[in-house]
Amino acid sequence: MLIDPFDRHITYVRISVTDRCDFRCVYCMAEDMTFLPKKDLLTLEELARLCGAFVDRGIRKIRLTGGEPLVRRNVMWLIREVGREVGTGRLDELTITTNGSQLGRFADDLASAGVRRINVSLDTLDKARFEAITRWGKYDKVMAGIEVAKAAGLAIKINAVALKSVNEHEFDRMIEWCGREGFDLTLIETMPLGDIDGDRTDQYLPLSRVRADLERRWTLTDIPYRTGGPARYVEIKETGGRLGFITPLTHNFCESCNRVRVTCTGTMYMCLGQEDAIDLRAPLRASESNELLDEAIRAGIARKPKGHDFVIDRRAAKPAVRRHMSVTGG
Ligand code: SAM
Ligand code: SF4
Repeated sequence: MLIDPFDRHITYVRISVTDRCDFRCVYCMAEDMTFLPKKDLLTLEELARLCGAFVDRGIRKIRLTGGEPLVRRNVMWLIREVGREVGTGRLDELTITTNGSQLGRFADDLASAGVRRINVSLDTLDKARFEAITRWGKYDKVMAGIEVAKAAGLAIKINAVALKSVNEHEFDRMIEWCGREGFDLTLIETMPLGDIDGDRTDQYLPLSRVRADLERRWTLTDIPYRTGGPARYVEIKETGGRLGFITPLTHNFCESCNRVRVTCTGTMYMCLGQEDAIDLRAPLRASESNELLDEAIRAGIARKPKGHDFVIDRRAAKPAVRRHMSVTGG
């Protein structure tokens, strides 16, 4: 078992399989991004071995993310490899976070590889607004992909970043749509990660305010439902659906943190909001057995900090954390 200095059991790993993406969401990336040289990336075989080592150490849930995980070439091979651990019962869940652009191609394969649930990031149901937020995204393709995923039997959670003056008047419509489609919906506060073109203080919308506003029209009841992530859920009486809130800024959820993140180059970050990290690529490559790797994983977990110190502050010229969300993986 992996247990950190604050007695939190680490059972969940998020792995970014690529820092590249076919979108350029305004809160996530600058339009002109420099990506890592492909040679620095862990190979798919190395990623599979890493997942196996984590499962051996008691990890029960793996999320593949990015960048856009489904644009990495041959990523389905990795998903099938890791999905086998769901079949053997050593892993409770293998899931992905995706922008939906490739779901039309891959949803059926995901379902047959052992993926049961996926998170699709979709901030708006308005085509023009979607194309403005994602810069390069194609709305119709994403919506068609979501339909294919639904038909393939995948449980879908829609993740929307709450953006002031951008999508804040759309949440009612999104709640209704998700209710009709049978999707969960989670709203996320923007986090100060990486340089973007523009000022984040202009985007930041506290979810405490959103919830208070929604409660004027919807009956929201707190429920203990958890998916292993940081969202806190309510049930919406009128739709019967679930609505989650991820509130790193208004409500710090670190005390129950059960996870670590690994980048596509094998750097393990023990906290999304801190710079401290440990390299897993060198121990992975130094030996065919996993002893060195295990040692590095343990050393990292022993340094897991108590929590992040996010603030979105107009006076701070720099983001709280220099790396983008697409590096650490959302
Ligand atoms: N490309 C995939 C996608 O968009 O779902 C996976 C990676 S993306 C980095 C994962 C999640 O992080 C997305 O839901 C995205 O909206 C969210 N995200 C990106 N940058 C963020 C930021 N600065 N603050 C909060 N959420 C962010
Ligand atoms: Fe790409 Fe996801 Fe970042 Fe949007 S949020 S730019 S889809 S990695």
